[in-house]
Amino acid sequence: MIDHSLVVLNSLSGKKEPFRSIKPGYVGMYVCGPTVYSNVHLGNCRTFISFDLIYRYLNHLGYKVRYVRNITDAGHLENDEDTGEDRIAKKARIEKIEPMEVVQYFTVDFHQILKKFNNLPPGIEPTATGHIIEQIELIKKILKEGLAYQVNGSVYFDVLKFNETYQYGKLSGRKIEELIHNTRKLDGQSDKKNPQDFALWKKAEPQHIMRWPSPWGDGFPGWHLECTAMSTKYLGESFDIHGGGMDLKFPHHECEIAQAEAINKKPPVKYWLHANMLTLNGKKMAKSTGNNILPMDIFTGKNDKFSKPYSPQVVRFFMLQAHYTSVLDISQDALDASEKGYQRLMEAVNKLAKHQSGELKGEFDTDKWLKNCYAAMDDDFNSPLLIAHLFEAVKFINLIIHEDHPINYNQWKILNKMLPVFIHEVLGIGVEKESSSLAKEKLKQTVGLLIDLRNKARINKDFETSDQIRNQLKEYGIHLKDGKEGTNFTFD
Ligand code: AMP
Ligand code: ZN
Repeated sequence: MIDHSLVVLNSLSGKKEPFRSIKPGYVGMYVCGPTVYSNVHLGNCRTFISFDLIYRYLNHLGYKVRYVRNITDAGHLENDEDTGEDRIAKKARIEKIEPMEVVQYFTVDFHQILKKFNNLPPGIEPTATGHIIEQIELIKKILKEGLAYQVNGSVYFDVLKFNETYQYGKLSGRKIEELIHNTRKLDGQSDKKNPQDFALWKKAEPQHIMRWPSPWGDGFPGWHLECTAMSTKYLGESFDIHGGGMDLKFPHHECEIAQAEAINKKPPVKYWLHANMLTLNGKKMAKSTGNNILPMDIFTGKNDKFSKPYSPQVVRFFMLQAHYTSVLDISQDALDASEKGYQRLMEAVNKLAKHQSGELKGEFDTDKWLKNCYAAMDDDFNSPLLIAHLFEAVKFINLIIHEDHPINYNQWKILNKMLPVFIHEVLGIGVEKESSSLAKEKLKQTVGLLIDLRNKARINKDFETSDQIRNQLKEYGIHLKDGKEGTNFTFD
């Protein structure tokens, strides 16, 4: 284990706290996964990339991390107030397919997208439907504690009763009086005693196809319950890290705390970490508003938001250039800057690997640099600061290469080893393959040069050369088209 003074921003205290895992050397981390009723948008991906960074760094420090990230495949209704259709059942109804087909399709899509972003898979990826028995057991326990009530085949968590002994709202900083004041009065249609109460089990109406038998009749679990069931099953009654996007703090995570405390009478989580939102045009990316972009649309360039494609590694790099707790707005300018930065970083690493080492010492304190890099990551996983330090090294590398200085062997050894470690292992930024935008850009420049040479040949009436260029390029699948504006080209 590398001995480090890692501090993390704990949403529960609102403060940065030294990270001490419950069991030395081991970390239990649970992150709320996607509800698989639609393609993940880029905003969702940001949250999963943020936790991938955290997972990678903890692994890098030598912790044995058990990372659990669930798949929500039942119980997530359209509205937070426990009303509306199940999101998956609704999609199945609209598409006239089985709910399991919806779940399968979007789970596969989710995995494929995260793989493109170079995310590591979690160690356990449990599903809500695979843990119905566990959820029913939890409800029985909460009922036994007198902190839930049964009405017409549904079971609700009694928030006011819970709040008499515990504190509801401590994660999101809400006071129960404010909650009572701010929530809409019940309209007489609801079975709930109070509007703050939330469903643990909902009775399934006859048309509701996603249903399971229970002691309270056929129904389905409330959304918040699955995460309590799965996190405590795999990580224990108290575990180290619980993560998710900021928007899940309330009510989802608040309800998770209440459920777990009602059963185990102690806080379930030591450090609550929340990733901030990705915005587009200054507004939160969200499925419901249409203000979002799908990862594949950005990779292929087929979208009406940006004029060119960006590779998964460039988009990942762009995201890591902001701290995970800051809001990040996506724009063409920002992506262009990240693309350039990514290329500069990769080029420097490649050049350094090939550079001769010798005796001359350059003006660069490698030990201090290394300390700074770790200090950045130890300060609540500050990836933008780490990247700034990586660019200090890039500047130095470019300088010595430009001036053809040899580099001191020890400096070379540290940089040549640690730059790739930080870039690939810690930040998880991969190397683009052939189809990378860098390769494409270079190809464009090369073809442009050949077009210039062909034009010169034509001016000089050297048609043999100009035809040779055209025909040879055609053989490579590059077609020149002469027009009024000059010569353009297309690829096969
Ligand atoms: P969902 O499938 O809606 O439950 O969302 C999956 C994850 O994506 C949750 O952790 C959300 O908090 C997160 N999320 C949703 N929208 C955004 C966004 N615009 N930026 C960052 N994370 C988001
Ligand atoms: Zn959750």
